[in-house]
Amino acid sequence: MNGSSNRRQEQHVVVAECRDGLLRQVSLEAIAAARGCMADGDKLAVLLLCGDGAEASAAAEQLARRAPDEVIAIDHPVLGRYAPDTHLAAVLAAAKALAPEARWWWLGHTAIGRDLAPRLAARLGAGQVSDALAAARGGDGRIELARALHAGKALERRAFLPGDTAIVTVRPNNFAPAEPIAGAAAPIRRVPFDPPPSRIFVRDVVRRASGTVDLAEARIIVAGGRGVKSAAGFAPLAELAALLGGAVGASRGACDAGYCDYALQIGQTGKTVTPDLYIACGISGAVQHLAGMSRSRVIVAINKDPEAPIFGVADYGIVGDLFEVVPAFIAELSGEY
Ligand code: FAD
Repeated sequence: MNGSSNRRQEQHVVVAECRDGLLRQVSLEAIAAARGCMADGDKLAVLLLCGDGAEASAAAEQLARRAPDEVIAIDHPVLGRYAPDTHLAAVLAAAKALAPEARWWWLGHTAIGRDLAPRLAARLGAGQVSDALAAARGGDGRIELARALHAGKALERRAFLPGDTAIVTVRPNNFAPAEPIAGAAAPIRRVPFDPPPSRIFVRDVVRRASGTVDLAEARIIVAGGRGVKSAAGFAPLAELAALLGGAVGASRGACDAGYCDYALQIGQTGKTVTPDLYIACGISGAVQHLAGMSRSRVIVAINKDPEAPIFGVADYGIVGDLFEVVPAFIAELSGEY
């Protein structure tokens, strides 16, 4: 951490998210991103918005163990489901309760983070950087953020100066998540919230993908393309993903062919993912697909065509029939060999 004795103390706030009662991994990554940009004397608060008392308590305690200066919990039934105006009002209620005034707001680049961040930026008169892949504090106190441009082919760097008010969303899987610290138990402050009348009513939330691991946050992804040939052809991919504790993804080719739901689509017009391991099965490697996965740490491609462009980005390439290679992986992992 850097700092000088005459600079003003600044407040960083991470807006944490829960889903199905569990804290999202990207919220812990946002804590790490914020912490990496703090100067000596800066404060870190984590804001938790929940709609269920028990859920709020468990998640708040998990956050408290990551040793922020405090956890601010706002618990109200209307916050059980994301609605832009009520969530924004709750964040603004937390902002009022914070001293020193919050300058730095960190959110996950999730569906909720992407919706909430620009609303918050507009209300606070702040600048915003979305989908940050890296964040660092410069010697002059500026905070520099890197984000991908042109479908991942270029990186741009943007900076906020000391004293700016900034909203940052961080891309899942790009920062090591904040771990619990032995003996840490930050104070948990419950801030009362009187929700304003809402103009938006969420009547139902329909889950289109039923996987247990969220695609955007998955550490391992097994993705299928048109080469999978049918919806049934995705079954071995799902089996492999389950064995590895990962998620299933798809190319648009597979989605367009009706083999799987568009919620699984990865690429320029689908999800952007950065898992530790990406296994591409029967995917040619069109530039629009690469835009969503080429920053994965290790890429394994399985394709019958040795000239397929996916081999250009793969760390390991297997020229072969996915219907032979994937079952061989499964057998190996299940100890059948
Ligand atoms: P194909 O290109 O048909 O490739 C299938 C591959 O499977 C081939 O390489 C073949 O050799 C291999 N194969 C066949 N059988 C087997 C087998 N048995 N074993 C092993 N390999 C086998 N695409 C995306 O993915 N995501 C996007 O977000 C996206 N956005 C787009 C946006 C725009 C504006 C446009 C114009 C296109 C977009 N596309 C996107 C589509 C993209 O251009 C490609 O058409 C698409 O990615 C192709 O999908 P695919 O690789 O599954 O299919």
